[in-house]
Amino acid sequence: MTKPALKLFLAAPRGFCAGVDRAIKIVEMALEKWGAPVYVRHEIVHNRYVVDGLRAKGAVFVEELDECPTDRPVIFSAHGVPRAVPAEAERRNMIYVDATCPLVSKVHIEAERHAEEGLQIIMIGHAGHPETIGTMGQLPEGDVLLVETADDVGSLEVRDPDKLAYVTQTTLSIDDTADVVAALRGRFPTIVGPHKEDICYATTNRQEAVKAMAPKVDAILVIGAPNSSNSRRLVEVGARSGCDYAQLVQRASDIDWRALDGISALGITAGASAPDVLVREVIEAFEARYDVTLEQVETAVERVEFKVPRVLREVPA
Ligand code: SF4
Repeated sequence: MTKPALKLFLAAPRGFCAGVDRAIKIVEMALEKWGAPVYVRHEIVHNRYVVDGLRAKGAVFVEELDECPTDRPVIFSAHGVPRAVPAEAERRNMIYVDATCPLVSKVHIEAERHAEEGLQIIMIGHAGHPETIGTMGQLPEGDVLLVETADDVGSLEVRDPDKLAYVTQTTLSIDDTADVVAALRGRFPTIVGPHKEDICYATTNRQEAVKAMAPKVDAILVIGAPNSSNSRRLVEVGARSGCDYAQLVQRASDIDWRALDGISALGITAGASAPDVLVREVIEAFEARYDVTLEQVETAVERVEFKVPRVLREVPA
């Protein structure tokens, strides 16, 4: 039986960003340096496949520091941690390695700098996401106010409307964040913000590639985890950019084949924490059912790389 034809558009860039790549390397290098087990506070990056792979090599994932023994190294995830976490590790004399993405650390520094200048910080982010908890936790509890949507801005109770600054989570929707910033500037005209939004290059580039791909396809699949903020934003961007069907799948077994019945063009992308092996798995699943022609939709070329912390680069004497 001849297979139906399918034009498959692959977004570029997609998948791993420099921060995720570095965080995974940190766990692997820590396992080489100190042997197993190495503890990791929170999923190092939001992807089950990655986490399971590192667990098989000897990483132990916990949610809180008090679940770690004091005589084993602990790694903090790419999303960042509140200040109290490394302080507690030091108090307990633990070896720790901070895998916070440097672009998240940059936001932490921004928030601290604004607070030193006497400004109250408003964070645009998702409640409960570890990055939001980490960034808000750079300052004493209650000092940072959180807004999730433009509608939240009206109910903010600030100390002084002329002494405000905002920072954002790095993995937000560019368009939604612009709306929240406009609402903040409308209510607090003197509010200070970053020169360029804190949304990182990887989030921006992946959203732009989906926008370029959406008009060409009948459906978009985003490979990523349900707790991955940037992956979920890619689904939203796809749906808003004119594609009728945009869905998150963790891997090929999640594909809803019935929903895709009759399509002739499909777009595929992957969140910043989804490994390429899962993208290939999904492509192969389509190749098994369709006569696939692959085309890349490239909107940017990324050459960002981050070094791992010095403690892991040092060669033992
Ligand atoms: Fe860093 Fe952006 Fe990747 Fe998050 S998505 S780890 S901020 S590069």
